[in-house]
Amino acid sequence: MPKAPINWTNTILFTLTPLFAVTLVPYYGFTHGYGLYEWVVFVVLMGFCGMSITAGYHRLWSHKTYKAHPIVRFVLALGGACALQNDILHWASDHRRHHAHVDNNDKDPYSAGRGFWYSHMGWILRDYESGKEDFSNVKDLRRDPIVVWQHKHYLALVLLMNIGLPAFLGYLGGDIIGSILLGGLLRLVLSQHVTWLINSLAHMWGKQTYSDASSARDNPLIALITYGEGYHNYHHTFQWDYRNGIRWWHYDPTKWFINACSYIGLTKDLKRCSPIAIESARLEMQYRLATEKYSTLNNADKWLQRLESEYQELKASLQLWAQHQQSWYEAKSSELHEKWTHWEKLELRDSYREAKFKLKVQRQRWRDLVENYSTLSAINPA
Ligand SMILES: [Zn+2]
Ligand SMILES: [Zn+2]
Repeated sequence: MPKAPINWTNTILFTLTPLFAVTLVPYYGFTHGYGLYEWVVFVVLMGFCGMSITAGYHRLWSHKTYKAHPIVRFVLALGGACALQNDILHWASDHRRHHAHVDNNDKDPYSAGRGFWYSHMGWILRDYESGKEDFSNVKDLRRDPIVVWQHKHYLALVLLMNIGLPAFLGYLGGDIIGSILLGGLLRLVLSQHVTWLINSLAHMWGKQTYSDASSARDNPLIALITYGEGYHNYHHTFQWDYRNGIRWWHYDPTKWFINACSYIGLTKDLKRCSPIAIESARLEMQYRLATEKYSTLNNADKWLQRLESEYQELKASLQLWAQHQQSWYEAKSSELHEKWTHWEKLELRDSYREAKFKLKVQRQRWRDLVENYSTLSAINPA
């Protein structure tokens, strides 16, 4: 099969910018030096571009996981132009196709099945069939005037944000060239590679915590440099959730940003997936992995039976807990206040607590059963 034709604009742009970054940035550093101010400009613009892609292009426009005030959308659209990753319409269209056909080498624009290089940036350098422009999956976004405005004036916005803004900030700080080199050039190259890592590395390195239906992985180390997007297995399993790292201690600054904005009315309708659906998916993956492992033991039947019965019991406890939690929350809510007598309420509260405790105990047993495999296999080699 003949190779797809080279996209010369992209190839020249994405070859020259890193080349200039690794030569001009150090050269200027040695001959003139950079001040603290220029480094602050670099860090601030790096964060601005990164968050515009993750909170804006990705979680807002591609997946509609929350709603945002026009001011937020305007700022994120400017940051997206600064990141130079194409306009919102193109980006979201490609990304929705990535989710719909993930790992399909003919349809996923940055399919990880075609290797690290292709999914990282190779897909941008040639006009592949899978990357063909087709806005039929982003009709909803055409109704957003800010998306349309950004699409129309994309080139002007790119120049304004990548040269105009760093130059202006440099003028304020007294070193225009230094500011353009750090806040413009170096920031541009690094912020692009950071995003691309989500398409390449986050589909190769990490755990498949919630599903193995796609190559997407959860990796807290990748989350550290991608503003929280490293929990990519969760994201591909529950793409309508505004969070990627769901535990409070998961490093996901994009989630914190969206959440913080909701307190001052700048974002609303933040979507979360139900805890029971999340937990069920996680348990099923654990069950399947444990089944595979236990099947290799000498007395596999005995262990598999045990595993099966514990799994079924745990699932039942989870259901029960969810039901009781629902009833207890309903009883607590003020609208239904009159409906419940005091004693009925206490009963509901106690059965919810009981279900919660039972689930806790069962979870512990499950964890032991799943984790104990390593010691067991040493005693019972297959
Ligand atoms: Zn996504
Ligand atoms: Zn992905």
